[in-house]
Amino acid sequence: MKKPNKNLSKHLRFPDDEPRFPWLSLLLDSYAIIDEGLSVAIVKEEAGRNRELACKESCDICCRVNKDIPVYPIELVGIYWFATEKAEQALRETLKKQLSSHTKNDPCSFLINGSCSIHVIRPISCRQFNVFNKPCAEGEDPYHTRRDDVLTPIEDYTKKAFLATLPFYGITDEKEQIHFIENNLIHAQVVNLQAYDWKKLVKIMDDFDSKKR
Ligand code: SF4
Ligand code: SF4
Repeated sequence: MKKPNKNLSKHLRFPDDEPRFPWLSLLLDSYAIIDEGLSVAIVKEEAGRNRELACKESCDICCRVNKDIPVYPIELVGIYWFATEKAEQALRETLKKQLSSHTKNDPCSFLINGSCSIHVIRPISCRQFNVFNKPCAEGEDPYHTRRDDVLTPIEDYTKKAFLATLPFYGITDEKEQIHFIENNLIHAQVVNLQAYDWKKLVKIMDDFDSKKR
């Protein structure tokens, strides 16, 4: 399900949507910073410690096993927008079904046929979860079984990425922004992707789909 972040990701843009949704540019900027930080960290690890990234597109165990996936409010808005307006037609009914019946012990609701249906807008925590040496075994959470194989993201990039999103929360003053980031206040905003009640999103997707008919 994951695309390895070995190479610098192309900065994804949505030129038709960004003028309508100013928060979207902030979110995409933030994801570009995260992806760049991951590329740097992975290259450094592979060269410095002579080990290979194990994450592959075909892997989906982390999306089935991990029950503690933090999502920030701007990311939540991004997921609502993408699922409603951009999710592939062929996946929409399955996605709505999964979101409607989701319980926190199920695999991630956005996982369809082993792939992330919101891949381009997946949260920072999903982007940053990368594992070296060997892929996860069925049921394994390598964070607990082999912490040393789990990538530690470069903090400067993570901070810079969160900083880029602060105007979304109404924080535009530079001093206030630094205070917010340095004191980790951004984390107070987080929700758990697995525990979140996605029924409101299903309703919005339904409304959007019925207007198209
Ligand atoms: S974290 Fe584990 S399951 Fe997920 S893509 Fe990487 S190796 Fe595969
Ligand atoms: S949003 Fe769900 S399916 Fe997508 S990468 Fe994250 S855990 Fe996996």
